[in-house]
Amino acid sequence: MVPKRPLLCERLGFLYCPPWRVQGSSVAGEGTVVQVPELNVVFDLGWCPRMALSSPLVAISHGHMDHVGGLPYWFSQRVFQKMGVGRCVCPARLERPLMDMMAAWVPIENQETPYQIHGMEHLEEVQLKPNVRLRAIEMHHGTASLGYAAIEYRSKLKPELAGRSQREIREIRDRGETVTYTLEIPLLAYTGDTQRCAHLLRPEFCDAKVVLAECTFFNPEHRDRARIGRHLHVEDLPELMEAWKADTVVLLHASRRSSLEQARQRIDEVLSEDDARRVHMLMDHRRNRARYDAQLEESGQSEVKVVDGSVVEP
Ligand SMILES: [Zn+2]
Ligand SMILES: [Zn+2]
Repeated sequence: MVPKRPLLCERLGFLYCPPWRVQGSSVAGEGTVVQVPELNVVFDLGWCPRMALSSPLVAISHGHMDHVGGLPYWFSQRVFQKMGVGRCVCPARLERPLMDMMAAWVPIENQETPYQIHGMEHLEEVQLKPNVRLRAIEMHHGTASLGYAAIEYRSKLKPELAGRSQREIREIRDRGETVTYTLEIPLLAYTGDTQRCAHLLRPEFCDAKVVLAECTFFNPEHRDRARIGRHLHVEDLPELMEAWKADTVVLLHASRRSSLEQARQRIDEVLSEDDARRVHMLMDHRRNRARYDAQLEESGQSEVKVVDGSVVEP
């Protein structure tokens, strides 16, 4: 008998949440890597699919192997592909152990891979784009763990100056007075692995336009597993969805203990119809494909198909 071929390509999950793409792969215990190319960041690197290389920054949520296993390879490939030295932010406690891990690779490979690793404290920020910063938010997962939020900083005219002419405003500024204030706009937030905790109700999560949230367990009998592993359970979602204003909540890190169909059914059971409509699962390829097709149709665009490097007319 001729044996079965292996799966020739591991499919990545993809959701277009305008103006951002959310793409990657996430299965509890096996691997999580979620890239948002437009924000120059990839969250976690349980393994390293090729597309993750294009982000110059990786934000590691915690040290479990399914979130960090691809990190040394990512550093190495970025340099090999001449994409520049990769930069990694992580919980402060992991800075030293991750640097030790990179040092351990030197005698194995007999060469040194350049890298940057920076440990972050709760509420510390790093720059993602000229006016967008990534803020670390402490989470609860039984080990040092961080969630992250991309926040846009917008300079706004002070309300009391509204209606004044350009010349008047310039005169006030020339006198040395400030005429603007800075508005923080949470764009996208990532929970990493965590149990239900107060920080999930912070404004960075409540006001983000897109939330990428772990939700590991769906079966009612798996509440204990969620508690012990410090993960979210689908029954935690109603409270979170009430607090989160996001148009799109992308669920990650589902355990293989429930099928996608069972998981979707439970989401629809525990949430109101409106809230359930806002929730998507990164790895639900079939529904995400239909959603993308509808987005294409709505835009009047057709998908560009590329076969063997050439564009094929649809
Ligand atoms: Zn995990
Ligand atoms: Zn974990």
